[in-house]
Amino acid sequence: MKQMSSAAVRQMFLDFFKSKGHTIEPSAPLVPKDDPTLLWINSGVATMKKYFDGEIIPKNPRLTSAQKSIRTNDIENVGHTARHQTFFEMLGNFSVGDYFKDQAVAYAWEFLTSPQWLDFDPEKLYMTIYPKDETAYNCWIKQGVDPSHIYRLEDNFWDIGVGPSGPDSEIFYDRGQENNDVALDDPENYPGGENARYLEIWNLVFSQFNHLPDGRFVDQPHKNIDTGMGLERIVSVIQDAPTNFETDLFLPIIQATEKLSAQKTYGVDKDDDIAFKIIADHARAVTFAIGDGALPSNEGRGYVLRRLIRRASLNGRKLGIQGSFLAQLVPIVGQIMESYYPEVLQQKDFIAKVIATEEERFSETLNEGLALLKAEIDQVKAQKQTVLQGDVAFKLFDTYGFPYELTVESAGEAGLTVDQAGFDAQMQAQKDRARKARGDRQSMGSQDELLMDIKTPSQFVGYDHLEVAGAQLQNIIVADAQVDQVTTGSAQVIFDQTPFYAEMGGQVGDLGQILASDGTLVAQVVDVQHAPNGQNLHSLQVQAPLTVGERYTLAIDADFRKKVRRNHTATHLLDQALRNILGEHTHQAGSLVEPDYLRFDFTSLEKVTPEQLQQIEQLVNEQIWQEIPVETIETDLETAKKMGAIALFDNKYGDQVRVVKISDFSLELCGGTHVQNTAEIGIFKITAETAVGAGVRRITAVTSQAAFQYYEEQGQYLTAVQQELKVPQAQGLLDKVVQLETELKTSQKQLQELQAQAAQQQASSLLDQVETVGNYRLVTAIVSASNMNELRQIADTWKQKASSDILVLGAKLGTKANLLVAVNPKVQVAELQANSLIKAIAPAIAGGGGGRADLAQAGGKNAAGLQEALQKAHTLIAAAE
Ligand code: ATP
Ligand code: MG
Repeated sequence: MKQMSSAAVRQMFLDFFKSKGHTIEPSAPLVPKDDPTLLWINSGVATMKKYFDGEIIPKNPRLTSAQKSIRTNDIENVGHTARHQTFFEMLGNFSVGDYFKDQAVAYAWEFLTSPQWLDFDPEKLYMTIYPKDETAYNCWIKQGVDPSHIYRLEDNFWDIGVGPSGPDSEIFYDRGQENNDVALDDPENYPGGENARYLEIWNLVFSQFNHLPDGRFVDQPHKNIDTGMGLERIVSVIQDAPTNFETDLFLPIIQATEKLSAQKTYGVDKDDDIAFKIIADHARAVTFAIGDGALPSNEGRGYVLRRLIRRASLNGRKLGIQGSFLAQLVPIVGQIMESYYPEVLQQKDFIAKVIATEEERFSETLNEGLALLKAEIDQVKAQKQTVLQGDVAFKLFDTYGFPYELTVESAGEAGLTVDQAGFDAQMQAQKDRARKARGDRQSMGSQDELLMDIKTPSQFVGYDHLEVAGAQLQNIIVADAQVDQVTTGSAQVIFDQTPFYAEMGGQVGDLGQILASDGTLVAQVVDVQHAPNGQNLHSLQVQAPLTVGERYTLAIDADFRKKVRRNHTATHLLDQALRNILGEHTHQAGSLVEPDYLRFDFTSLEKVTPEQLQQIEQLVNEQIWQEIPVETIETDLETAKKMGAIALFDNKYGDQVRVVKISDFSLELCGGTHVQNTAEIGIFKITAETAVGAGVRRITAVTSQAAFQYYEEQGQYLTAVQQELKVPQAQGLLDKVVQLETELKTSQKQLQELQAQAAQQQASSLLDQVETVGNYRLVTAIVSASNMNELRQIADTWKQKASSDILVLGAKLGTKANLLVAVNPKVQVAELQANSLIKAIAPAIAGGGGGRADLAQAGGKNAAGLQEALQKAHTLIAAAE
């Protein structure tokens, strides 16, 4: 077998399919764009959805990619099986309505066995097919595959519910019985069974059916091919590694972990090796996920990151690594992947910072968890029980990241067992919840055959024209059918050319009118979207007959467009200003450009401070004041990237791209409509900065007229406040408010003093009510005092008055109560000392306290026992010498 690096294998795969006429698609970010059904990109096909469901027909129907993927449902497998990671790369080839089974099988066979490519021994390869898929069987036979190497398995059917589905065929590599974990005669010992000998390397999916909501499977209008080969697995075969981990993709990470550990070495102990593998896997997953804009948090994607970082941390502890270490593996991951993913090294400092912060946070939580565990164990023992409840173990696991075994071990040291059934039940409930919420199943829409088959060209001329005369009507669609004429109601239409912008990149579609050649109104345009083959599809409210082949005047709402234009260019300025002020790592997470306002979402760990917002606003407005001409350049993607253009919103562009350049300040790939000079934006004002989900912030802003109106409104509020406060100049407002606040504080203070005086007077009269109890003169009273200090003040007055030997005061504070006992130093009897008395009476208010011989105090939870406490004091004094 050829010796090759992982980078060479990846490149060879892409080169092979390029040589077969495929276009290489870049590895899309792990965080799906505009796809709420999916938590992470989990396969190559997940990024091809809009091609597979017919929403867009790609220029070249043959595509290939090496796609970053995350599969959280494989997390428990990591380290335990040879072949699973949470983060891996899927090499794939795709045919969108072009070649099908026969060709897909032929390509796979050629790539694997041809001496020019991987040159695998055909004897080592096994295939599984769907039992009824005779075509697939014949395709393999045609390649010369030995029939005894083809297995029929029911499982080989790819179906994700409603939408595309079809049989598949998996390719296995025989790693030899010597590498197996089951016996030769084990029933699982076949390709597709649970064993380590037959390694699934590649899956070819033949997407030929449409799974209908009623359960039927019907032929797809366009049949597609989707394949996936795990890079790590194929590399493990080529580099003759026992598992995916002993390859150049992981070994440097494992070696760096060994150094950090300084205690453990890889390859010595089975359990330690699992920890090494988990750390290596999770280091890659979190590095790439953070690089692609995800951030740790308590929900969704962020929660997955948090779990991965915690698991890695705990496994680090197993290897004797204390404190935060995972962040140190980021540069190693970056170096390994540099040839295909240079962006990781570029962002390594930011990624490492995010990971280190999260690790530190975890070690604090872990300490809190240990304290909680100790408290729980103490409580169980105090109650003379022997079992720690399952929900406690689960809470430790779920909230504090404690592995169950750790809890069992600690409980065991204290002589306790753990209620495992209770723990398992909670764990299951959690998994069920997670499964429901996960959304990492794929979903795809159905192909719209009608629209997919419309291939008439249509040109967008709206960058330069707001109106065109003589546009010829090409297609009319009414209620899912093509017609030649429409006279009223709703319809969708395509013209040979149009100035109407179709919604894209956050910018809304144009509104406007369709006019007959004599200028009469024929229809209102209420929405414009892209049809699968790229034409602008206008949604109309029809008012007069429209006929295919006729020519019309298309006029967009110029005022609407003007406002949208300003907001779109302002969005570019804002995007760059955010990068300048908050840092280059700020990722764009969504955008909306409307005529009335713009909205921009971006990832950020922290809230943007008012000072930063002010700086951002200032920076954007400076670009407006400088009256910079906005240039648009048409070029190819490579040149655009070389120019340093930022690709936003979508990573799928055609051969020709448009670059929008605002002098040296901003350079973005964008198909939207823009102002000719930044001065047209007039003014830019941020109206809100809020959180939208974990780690994502949203800025809403206005420009031009809307900004003017915003300032006007603010001014009106100010005027109203000025009038109310009778301040003629706005500058005087702050002084006035400060003055009012001071006055208010003074009044409040005076009020408090008066209230205290009243209380003192009340107390003072109480102090005169002396009774003689046994040998002593006693004052007892329940007073209204809101804290202990006030009780002590009353005691001071009592001392000055010297009207009795003993004072017992109580005060009610809602359901709680305070007690105070003061004793004249003349009284020398031990049981009448203040601290003795308070100890004797405090239980009546369910409390405790203490103090000196002359003054003691207590607080308690039971105000209802105040009378009883006083009575108790009475009795004790009466009984004393
Ligand atoms: P397995 O049964 O081994 O988990 P799968 O059937 O889930 O694999 P597919 O969904 O068919 O895999 O994905 C296509 C290819 O992607 C697989 O043949 C394999 O090479 C690779 N792959 C899938 N899951 C993982 C993973 N967790 N780690 C590494 N590679 C994977
Ligand atoms: Mg799997």
